[in-house]
Amino acid sequence: MIVKTDAVVLRTMKYRESSRIATLYTRDSGKMSVIAKGIREHASRFGGSLDVLAYVSVVVYRKEHRDLQLLTRCDMKKPFRHLSEEIDRMAAALAAIELLDAVTHAAEENAPLFTLLVETLDAIDSAARNVVSPLLFFELHLLAALGYRPNVAACFRCGAPLEADDAGPARYALNSGSGGLYCDGCAPEGAAAETVSAGTLRSLQHLQGLGAPHDAARVALSPRIREEVSWTLRRLLQCHVEGLRPSKSEAVFAALAQS
Ligand SMILES: [Zn+2]
Repeated sequence: MIVKTDAVVLRTMKYRESSRIATLYTRDSGKMSVIAKGIREHASRFGGSLDVLAYVSVVVYRKEHRDLQLLTRCDMKKPFRHLSEEIDRMAAALAAIELLDAVTHAAEENAPLFTLLVETLDAIDSAARNVVSPLLFFELHLLAALGYRPNVAACFRCGAPLEADDAGPARYALNSGSGGLYCDGCAPEGAAAETVSAGTLRSLQHLQGLGAPHDAARVALSPRIREEVSWTLRRLLQCHVEGLRPSKSEAVFAALAQS
């Protein structure tokens, strides 16, 4: 079966002298491994576009029950020219695709998640500043796309609205086992409880209410809040995605944040 679809390149590796194997996240077929045979001899068919983070349109000769599909054509759909110009832009974009790669399985179609990924990469590429905010938007809405939309507006236990203003408590207890937050009255006793600040809760509520990653690029967060929002989202993801580990690009990030 010939499949024509759009895709983002998640990973690539050289195979023998002239071929390349790539992992794609496609709009119509989810994650897929492909081989581009003779990529050097047939540069016109692959358009020099089979690189990590490239947003491409592909033609794949697909056979059921075959792990590695045959890529017969790959064309650049839209270049993200600025990603390679700055290390923090690149790190944010790589963190998004690494995370997507970690939470998705082969051949699980999720067109809304594909759109979210492309819009996120585009926002990180084109943002004048705040390049991390679209990534945080992505992480929050990725949870929703996987069916685990966290409730950051109301108490997980009693349903009381969580008001992250001066009238509310300074910190809110996080229940990362179930992916929710407690109001002041329901918060369990004990120092072991994980908490988030009112500022982080406010930022999460704001990011959840936005429509698209491009809107998030207008959200300026202080380094402290950014780090706490990132940590909170990671805890929420970990409670739904088994074995999720800190990503390589996040380590780069952490180093950048401290420099
Ligand atoms: Zn409550």
